[in-house]
Amino acid sequence: MARYKDEQCRICRREGQKLFLKGSRCYSDKCSISRRNYAPGQNGQKKKKLSEYGTQLREKQKTKAFYGVGEKQFRKYFQMASSSKGKTGEVLLQILESRLDNVVYRLGFASSRAQARMQVTHGAFEVNGQKVDIPSYLVKPGDVIALREIRKDNGAIKMSLEETASRPVPAWLEKDAEKVSGKVLAVVAREEIDLPVEEHLIVELYSK
Ligand code: SF4
Repeated sequence: MARYKDEQCRICRREGQKLFLKGSRCYSDKCSISRRNYAPGQNGQKKKKLSEYGTQLREKQKTKAFYGVGEKQFRKYFQMASSSKGKTGEVLLQILESRLDNVVYRLGFASSRAQARMQVTHGAFEVNGQKVDIPSYLVKPGDVIALREIRKDNGAIKMSLEETASRPVPAWLEKDAEKVSGKVLAVVAREEIDLPVEEHLIVELYSK
């Protein structure tokens, strides 16, 4: 069990970066990256030189882990991004940020994206007054996300609100902690996305 619980931290350690997969622990000094910033396994402390392909692959894997998205869905987002008018890598990140589970997490209504995904799946949130239980639902500017009235006593969400009270909400979102609701003010700008990723490497990987 302990091994399973550490699985998410192993992902961060493999990527050498905090990917915030475990909620409040990620913001504390218990974070494994703060204590053991080297890859897991026997040879984890040996520095490996990655090939061009390996570097591109790691950037993709890191992004998938950060947003909790599987390969099939990630590729679908890439295709959506590549057929858009903007820069493919940037649009890809904008799509990922627009997922309802990510927005619930960014607003501080869940302590991690995994918890946000579970809350959404359980029908805790509505968008523009309509229940939405699809974590991959893509929100757009003007949308209002709110905790549904019948879930107002949800203990996990109350706890998340306390835990995340001091965490800043990104400028593209507006939060009303009292009503447990939030509004999408704009499409997120690249510089507002805190994932340390070189998205052009993902574009190069898929362009092969
Ligand atoms: Fe674990 Fe730290 Fe990664 Fe959170 S950020 S999952 S605590 S290693």
